[in-house]
Amino acid sequence: MVFPFDTIQDYSVVLTPEHEMFRKAVREFVEREVAPRAMEIEETDEVPRDILRKMAEQGFFGIGIPEKYGGQGGDHRMGVIMSEEICRVLPGLSVYIGTNELFLTPIMLFGSEEQKQKYIPPIARGEKFGAFAVTEPCCGSDVAGIQTKAEKVGNKWVINGRKAFISSADVADYFVVLARTYPPPDKRLRYLGLTFFIVEKDTPGFKVEQCYHKMGLHGDHACELVLENVEVPDENRVGEEGMGFLYAMETFDRTRIGVAAQAVGMAQGAFEMAFKYVHQRQAFGVPIAYFQAIQFSLVEMMAKIFSARLLTYLAAKLADEDRKEYTFAASLAKFYATEVAEEVISEAINLHGGVGVIRETGVERFLRSVKITQIYEGANNIQKLVAYRQLVRILREKGQIPEEIAKLVT
Ligand SMILES: Cc1cc2nc3c(=O)[nH]c(=O)nc-3n(C[C@H](O)[C@H](O)[C@H](O)COP(=O)(O)OP(=O)(O)OC[C@H]3O[C@@H](n4cnc5c(N)ncnc54)[C@H](O)[C@@H]3O)c2cc1C
Repeated sequence: MVFPFDTIQDYSVVLTPEHEMFRKAVREFVEREVAPRAMEIEETDEVPRDILRKMAEQGFFGIGIPEKYGGQGGDHRMGVIMSEEICRVLPGLSVYIGTNELFLTPIMLFGSEEQKQKYIPPIARGEKFGAFAVTEPCCGSDVAGIQTKAEKVGNKWVINGRKAFISSADVADYFVVLARTYPPPDKRLRYLGLTFFIVEKDTPGFKVEQCYHKMGLHGDHACELVLENVEVPDENRVGEEGMGFLYAMETFDRTRIGVAAQAVGMAQGAFEMAFKYVHQRQAFGVPIAYFQAIQFSLVEMMAKIFSARLLTYLAAKLADEDRKEYTFAASLAKFYATEVAEEVISEAINLHGGVGVIRETGVERFLRSVKITQIYEGANNIQKLVAYRQLVRILREKGQIPEEIAKLVT
């Protein structure tokens, strides 16, 4: 055993020529269509619609979606590559893809065939956008504590409540909304009784309220939602009643690999800017790259990016193979990549000296964005909790940890 895997081969990150071809295509697109407008988007906090339309033409919104539902197919590794390449240039743009994935995952995993046929193809084609409405003013990490309620009246559900921090809410056409449909049987089972519903944006009683002025991920907006007697038919219930908490956790297990990839891309973008700058900037009569302290710094940054990238790709590969260890690896990748990315970006700003803190230089914006990756889709403390519990589960199944100890922590 190579703790916690069975063999050393489990650590291999397999990437094919198709992955590289796809990476090049995304890089070319982003350099041509997005990079020249990145600063404008950063300042206006708006992504021009033509960029989203061109992304749709490239098929980017269909990556990871089976062809049967109008997508391009492709695996988690392709999704990771795409997020990384987009974030290297414009972090906020990747949120559109991330929130689509958050909307689609519970439907793909647990939805009815009718829901799949109706909601997946328009998103895969980039004609419609999805959003994922779980968090509330009361509760983010404590998902089971949410207070939005759905009550069954005849063959319909009536939903009332308020959601907070919902990414892409102002552009989304469809939402998956988590609501409590029955009280928890007891304190230990409070995760039971939550149910997901699909709500379309024009449904009476459904309103997108204020969007926040957030520090980073500009171009995408996180907003509040109000649901007042919103009626949806029972066909809009996703999966089994009461199982929504578990569906949300299964969704995060998959999507948080994308957040790790976002952080790797941001770190890469900041690193490349710093690398270029230290070879141009002169001090004491030489380019500052001449000083060993600067060289050490660059190498340390690179080591952090390498390790975060490898961990992220490993988590994606394990997810592609549907290995039980992937949840553990995904949580590790999310907290590790987002934390080292902050260190890398902060150092990239230091290496720019004074100009590093000026917005027009374009490096500080990565720091403002990476901070959010440490919080959304499960704050990093929660990632560590998930990773530890998952590790114990894996070891328990392999008979590597005494049952009484495993029971205490899972
Ligand atoms: C820009 C942005 C976009 C977002 N987009 C979405 C979205 O599209 N859909 C959606 O549903 N939500 C979204 N969120 C919400 C996000 O998922 C939550 O903010 C996040 O889960 C943290 O919840 P919270 O803000 O309530 O913090 P809290 O849960 O109040 O946590 C505060 C702090 O306490 C720590 N903490 C909490 N519980 C524990 C514990 N048991 N052990 C140790 N530490 C703990 C946390 O790590 C954190 O540091 C978004 C958030 C942001 C900032």
